[in-house]
Amino acid sequence: MSRPVLRFAPSPNGRLHLGHAFSALTNARIAEDLGGQLLLRVEDIDLGRTRPEFVQGLFDDLAWLGLRFESPVRRQSEHFSAYARARDALAARKLLYPCFCSRGRIAATVAECETVTRDPDGAPLYPGTCRVLSGDEVLARIEAGAPHTWRLDSAAALAEVPAPLAIRRFAPDGVEETIPADPARWGDAVIARRDVPTSYHLAVVWDDAEQGISHVVRGQDLEAATDLHVLLQHLLGLPSPAYHHHGLIRDETGDKLAKSKGSESLADLRASGVAPDAIRAMLGFA
Ligand code: GLU
Repeated sequence: MSRPVLRFAPSPNGRLHLGHAFSALTNARIAEDLGGQLLLRVEDIDLGRTRPEFVQGLFDDLAWLGLRFESPVRRQSEHFSAYARARDALAARKLLYPCFCSRGRIAATVAECETVTRDPDGAPLYPGTCRVLSGDEVLARIEAGAPHTWRLDSAAALAEVPAPLAIRRFAPDGVEETIPADPARWGDAVIARRDVPTSYHLAVVWDDAEQGISHVVRGQDLEAATDLHVLLQHLLGLPSPAYHHHGLIRDETGDKLAKSKGSESLADLRASGVAPDAIRAMLGFA
């Protein structure tokens, strides 16, 4: 059997917090237990929120925690042309369609619906407005430079899939089981954004395959997204890794930690004199 390959894949939209430390340490522990290799991937597709100091910060914070990654480090912003090719290949097969709706337009359409179905993150499923645009209309809008995302035509995509689509799930000791995936609950999800030729979902499945990732270890907040990831892997002919979704570190109110909520960063803890060993101990890695 070939050597397992794992990755820790933070987004440099802020400084890392204890939740990232827990995820990175869990990856490192499982990689060690499985005799695997641990890679680092910088998920910097959000050009508006990525900042050079956050990228440098994540290298510094991980090194401070004593974590080592094998080279090379992959940066998603260097691979937009590969994601664009994958997006275009799916669009050419009519598995994606351009969507010109603004958030406001979608909210207004959804408000008029009698029943609203929501995706696993709580957002209303896209009502399909642009799925029914004529070819001429689409061409005219694109030629006029109208900003657009690319959405999955979920019905067309699911028609290409053997039922049921499965996720390989593994426990930290490496024992695997197979569970069914239900990508339909994401509806016509955005697969490529307006500003960049990818979304988190497309880039993550592309890169996991490109980097030969055999075992994905990440937080439970991304567990439901795996349904969509195995669908994309199937459509793109990519291998599907085994997945382990670990528990989340929560704040005193029970919410998961988040940069956007100003959760204390590893850099703050370090500046206040906390040692890396204390962080490890606090997170159960003594
Ligand atoms: N970049 C994602 C995040 O920081 C993690 C992606 C993944 O592990 O699949 O939440």
